[in-house]
Amino acid sequence: MCGIIGYIGDKKASEVLITGLSRLEYRGYDSAGIALMKNKDIFIYKAEGKLNNLVEVLKDKKNICDSSHIGIGHIRWATHGLPTTVNAHPHTCNCKSLTLVHNGIIENYQELKEELEKYGCKFVSQTDTEVAAHLIAHEYGKYKNLLKAMQAAVKKIQGAFAFCAIHKNEPDKIVVAKRNAPLVIGLGENENFIASDIPAIIEYTKKAIYLNDYQVGVVEKNSIEIYDDDGHLIQNKIEHLPFEAMSISKMGYKHFMLKEIHEQGDVVRNIISGKFVGSDKIQLENFKLTNNEINNISRIQIIACGTSLHAGMVGKYIIEKYAKIPVDVEASSEYIYRDTIADKNTLVIGISQSGETADTITAIKQVKAKGSHIVIITNRADSTMARLADSLLPVNAGIEVSVAATKSYMAQVISLYLLAIYLSEEKDLKEYKDEIKKLKKELVELPNKIEQLLENSKNIKEIAKKYSSYKNFIFIARGINYPSALEGALKLKEISYINATGYGAGELKHGPIAMLDENMPVLAILNTGVVYDKVLSNCEEAKARQAKLIGVTNYLANKDKALFDDLIMIPTVSDILSPALNIIALQLLAYYIAEYLGKDVDQPRNLAKSVTVE
Ligand code: GLU
Repeated sequence: MCGIIGYIGDKKASEVLITGLSRLEYRGYDSAGIALMKNKDIFIYKAEGKLNNLVEVLKDKKNICDSSHIGIGHIRWATHGLPTTVNAHPHTCNCKSLTLVHNGIIENYQELKEELEKYGCKFVSQTDTEVAAHLIAHEYGKYKNLLKAMQAAVKKIQGAFAFCAIHKNEPDKIVVAKRNAPLVIGLGENENFIASDIPAIIEYTKKAIYLNDYQVGVVEKNSIEIYDDDGHLIQNKIEHLPFEAMSISKMGYKHFMLKEIHEQGDVVRNIISGKFVGSDKIQLENFKLTNNEINNISRIQIIACGTSLHAGMVGKYIIEKYAKIPVDVEASSEYIYRDTIADKNTLVIGISQSGETADTITAIKQVKAKGSHIVIITNRADSTMARLADSLLPVNAGIEVSVAATKSYMAQVISLYLLAIYLSEEKDLKEYKDEIKKLKKELVELPNKIEQLLENSKNIKEIAKKYSSYKNFIFIARGINYPSALEGALKLKEISYINATGYGAGELKHGPIAMLDENMPVLAILNTGVVYDKVLSNCEEAKARQAKLIGVTNYLANKDKALFDDLIMIPTVSDILSPALNIIALQLLAYYIAEYLGKDVDQPRNLAKSVTVE
């Protein structure tokens, strides 16, 4: 789930491994470890907690670190067993000849373990990974060949994995395998790299081979061989890596999250660039459905998790409004394992920052089999989900390092505006022509407004400080900003660990109001538009229960100002586009509260950047 790195070449392996792991740290992890091969011996070093703890351990091992040129490394996001040193990867077998790192989950690890125990395998950790290490070693006993052992072992394993293994008897190679967890092999001169994600290797190479599911590979210093599920050697497909090493620097900001919040003006500019030119119809050249097929769409299903799910909820509102197609938005984990209804006239939109979200991938595979057209909105055009797409809408927000998503949310939301406009124009819904024209103009103006809001963030910082000691928050909004309330509350939870819940403002009186008193601040999003007065009434109800009130608004009549304890003003914007500005205020509020409380903003506890397990 978290991060893998492998190196074989002339460099000091320990340095490449530690640098690589440090580039993956942003994904969130709880322990780290490496294995170094030296003269047919394997040395394993592990540490609980941050990567620096492992670096400390290595300080005493200079001799081995300086003379090993083959190794594998791992940062772990525990799924099976506590985040302890014993459970940290790499794992090994009884005779310690084989060493393995693994991302993912071995679903049948209990059965395999019982079987292996019969052969005398002794387990020291609580992990599922150790079972795989013993299994591959057991197969090695039969085949005396690491590739064959790996091929035989993966056939017995159920679940998701990216594996990287080394064996004492074959000290010049790393054997890799993949199923439903990402793995990429980076190509160098007299050296090769392996990683679960490209930031780990981007400063060494721009050429890579993406391993596909069910493939097994043998990586040596001067060769890479990939085998398919039937054991046939296949042609290597070398791709150019799209990211610059530069994009993973903080550029002077205290945290990646703050940097990424500040990049959102450019993110919008980037997405809309070239979309409104040449014709008065929006250009979405990657959208593959014909006009006839678009007119036949009977429903849309948006499938996503977490922040992407909230982007999808904004999408529902605008697509239903402008394209007049019913839209359901569902958490991927709820979509799978149930009889869902979809057919060739269903358009399915999968949204994921990383494109590796396991729940969403499973859901997309299921619905693809029913013949629905799959649109993927992702920040990673090189991801598994992107490869499953019939129509790919890459958002190109640049690598997002902070675990809490900000700019990728913005990019997803803006992509959904473009898609809604596109569908409406393709369906030639004349009644929305004028409104859409205005919306397009506003989209072009949006980046400047975002930057205006960011320049005035001092007030938000002060409000953050004032409210940082509260233990609970309620966020309310209605209409198109209901998802903004959910997303704002999620941001606060994720990085400050304060309990925050988003509600549709109208729902407050149906239960949550029972919790209101002077210790429960209520943050209300209210924009000029149809629900303004309604949200204002809900604010009155909260005030009557002595809750402190924070308003996030683009307009407030003077007479209404006194109701609020604090106000965050956002630039003038139409109700329909307001989620794109409101969310920035909420991201900043969450950021400054967490920063004031001294939290690990970019790597919040227990969270991982791309959730590659179901
Ligand atoms: N399931 C394995 C473990 O708990 C791997 C977790 C990971 O991907 O980091 O150790």
